Amino acid sequence: MDTSKEQNRNDRRGRRPPVSDTQKRRGQNRTKRPPAGLGEKEKGNAGKLEIVPLGGLGEIGKNMTAFSYEDNMMIIDCGMSFPDDEMFGIDVVIPDFKYVVENASRLKGLVVTHGHEDHIGGIPYLLKQVRVPIYGTRLTLGLIENKLREHGIKGDLRRIEAGDKFRMGCFRVETIRATHSVADSLALAVDTPAGRIFHSGDFKLDYTPIDGDPMDFQKLAAIGAKGIDLMMCDSTNSERKGFTKSEKSIGPIFESIFADTNSRIIIATFASNIHRVQTIINTAVKFRRKVALSGRSMLNVMDLATELGYMSIPPGTIVDLADINNIPDKKLVLITTGSQGEPMSALSRMAASEHRNVKIKKGDRVILSSSPIPGNEKTVSSIVNSLLELGAEVIYSDLMDIHVSGHASSEEIKLLISLLKPKNYMPVHGEYRHLYRNSMIAEDLGMHQKNIFIARNGDVLSMKDGYVSKTGRRVPADPVFVDGLGVGDIGAMVLKDRKQLSEAGLIIVAATVDTASGFLISDVDIISRGFTYEKENGDILAEASAIAGKVISDHEKRGFKDLPALRSELKSELRKYISIKTKRNPVILTVIMEA
Ligand SMILES: [Zn+2]
Ligand SMILES: [Zn+2]
Repeated sequence: MDTSKEQNRNDRRGRRPPVSDTQKRRGQNRTKRPPAGLGEKEKGNAGKLEIVPLGGLGEIGKNMTAFSYEDNMMIIDCGMSFPDDEMFGIDVVIPDFKYVVENASRLKGLVVTHGHEDHIGGIPYLLKQVRVPIYGTRLTLGLIENKLREHGIKGDLRRIEAGDKFRMGCFRVETIRATHSVADSLALAVDTPAGRIFHSGDFKLDYTPIDGDPMDFQKLAAIGAKGIDLMMCDSTNSERKGFTKSEKSIGPIFESIFADTNSRIIIATFASNIHRVQTIINTAVKFRRKVALSGRSMLNVMDLATELGYMSIPPGTIVDLADINNIPDKKLVLITTGSQGEPMSALSRMAASEHRNVKIKKGDRVILSSSPIPGNEKTVSSIVNSLLELGAEVIYSDLMDIHVSGHASSEEIKLLISLLKPKNYMPVHGEYRHLYRNSMIAEDLGMHQKNIFIARNGDVLSMKDGYVSKTGRRVPADPVFVDGLGVGDIGAMVLKDRKQLSEAGLIIVAATVDTASGFLISDVDIISRGFTYEKENGDILAEASAIAGKVISDHEKRGFKDLPALRSELKSELRKYISIKTKRNPVILTVIMEA
């Protein structure tokens, strides 16, 4: 390997951060590390750590990474993502757990960095397949517990705190407090016999977080001084220049809006962003307004956060949603879910005038304290339109700075890399463009391309003595679709059918034949759904019926000896005709019954 040569070249150019001690030991045996147990020659994987991203690369969603070393495996995060427009009828999307299930006997634990769906949403589905202790902070575990309860399962939940060190098999995990848009978030340093890994989790460097607990820079610097062999880093906002604003910057903006409003205020935000909700409540208290909460997840998270002591709410502030009509509009703030335009959420029901307790009226001030996650722009926009039509005044992030992101912009990523000085770098948590941009940030800081790994879900990377490489091997990592009670039973073919059905509808040709006598003994029926309005385009269907009749009578002459051939001929003749006549491609089903 000539990586060290490259490294030296970089050093001479003076672009690379100072070389740590561990780096100088590169290529030598690290006698300090525990012996692998099996000699390298006896077993191909001895002394090697496998790093297997199962989700979160090439996408924002369903984050999950497995790490295996000989007889030990651990997982960081187990998230889900929401279906896109092409995934008809799919409820949620989870990672493929095959690799984990096949290695379940080695599984020592799952560490969860924080309580967002893209990090915890897959856990109930994983626990239905393997048993694993789950490590997380108080709020994270609370959110996981709520989720497990909905699925009717119990988990082996083990509470940790920022700053804790614990073992899972051969892995020594150290947790570092991180700032993000949900409280109690962690970054992780994981000591493995093959080298030390740092995983940023989702983070931003907020110097003035609402709870007063900024990211633990001292600890980060100390960990950097010990040497990091591989840093895995959040890429979500890597395209953004500068720094992401502090959560604290939102407070004064809310205050200026409240000061200027004499009507009812309705604010939509993520339920899990309890710091944002706290800011809204503080502002409400200051302006002597009562607060009502709307939306199931808002109530659940607030209950949990209050119970665990994450919220401070003066008594008498919160009122029941059913009682809001007893309170003057100018004395009321409603905090609701639905800031992403989720179809069944409280805000979308308000916008559709279908909310039981809240009727939007002229003068209401509605604030969307969020920015649409890519893909949600259209639904959010249609909610804004509906609210405006109902006479509300709507404030959203294009108009005022009423939202800040929970993810680090490029300057923050630079700072974290500079504190940690990793030998190898792997952008995670992002679409390819985000991963790519993040890799450029590391290059800008002097890291060599050879030490930067942009991987896909399912790629197996390996680390030994602090050296990282791509193995070229892959494990199954296609998205697994959950539809109702079915997990993984909907594959690409079913989705293709659903797409085709949704685009061009369905035509069914039905006939009954007597194979013994070789005669057709029914009419040839053509039925269509979602294809074309039968009354207007009856002639197309009549002509299709005639074509089908001709194909069938040709086969009747031969005594219906080959029904599979009849079916495929019917399909291809009808497809040809309909394509020429309509330029459409409906699903065609042939139902030939044998009497
Ligand atoms: Zn997050
Ligand atoms: Zn995330």
